Amino acid sequence: MRTITEIIVHCTATRADWMAGYPTGSKVAEVKAWHLARGFSDIGYHFLIDRDGTVAQGRPLELIGAHVAGHNTGTIGISLFGGFGSTEVDDFFDNFTAEQDVSARTLIADLRARFPAIKLVTGHNQYAAKACPGFQVSEWLGETIVVNAPGRVTVRRGSRSDDVRVLQETLSLRGHAPGQADGIFGGMTEAAVKAFQMGQGLTTDGIVGPVTWGALLGAA
Ligand SMILES: [Zn+2]
Repeated sequence: MRTITEIIVHCTATRADWMAGYPTGSKVAEVKAWHLARGFSDIGYHFLIDRDGTVAQGRPLELIGAHVAGHNTGTIGISLFGGFGSTEVDDFFDNFTAEQDVSARTLIADLRARFPAIKLVTGHNQYAAKACPGFQVSEWLGETIVVNAPGRVTVRRGSRSDDVRVLQETLSLRGHAPGQADGIFGGMTEAAVKAFQMGQGLTTDGIVGPVTWGALLGAA
């Protein structure tokens, strides 16, 4: 068995009623067909979770998946059916069901018990400018998850999290004016991030990823 250190959560970006009434296996077969059409050798995800909470196996766990460019080797990909039209800062229940919530938490707990080397549970949107899975995984799980240490989770306008609060406090300490440290990444915080990035000679995009986090939390 390969070494697994991380679970990455996705969604299928299908509508809530997509293939309603069909068995989970038929939906999985459809997703597999999309992935084969993209040139994958098999479905990209290891598990898929249907709207009613049914958990289906995708690609065998011992095989490396195809779900996040550059992050497939030591990871397991789990995908939730649904999420069409979601944004990366929606609440879990805006796009997914209570049954999916229970099944996903149970599956993640089981996998962590089975693979103790798992250190991270993340969302696709932490690695790419995508909404997928349509919520912030760390907030949903109630954990602060550090990606690309010593940086933190990438945050940008619209993000709401403890990481945003840390960002706001750090910007204030560094003489910028991000507004109240309320954990909500709004226009003032974005302007303060851009001012900080400009002062550091970084790309002035207002997005706080590993490089900007490193500059913020590094040597004062
Ligand atoms: Zn994804």
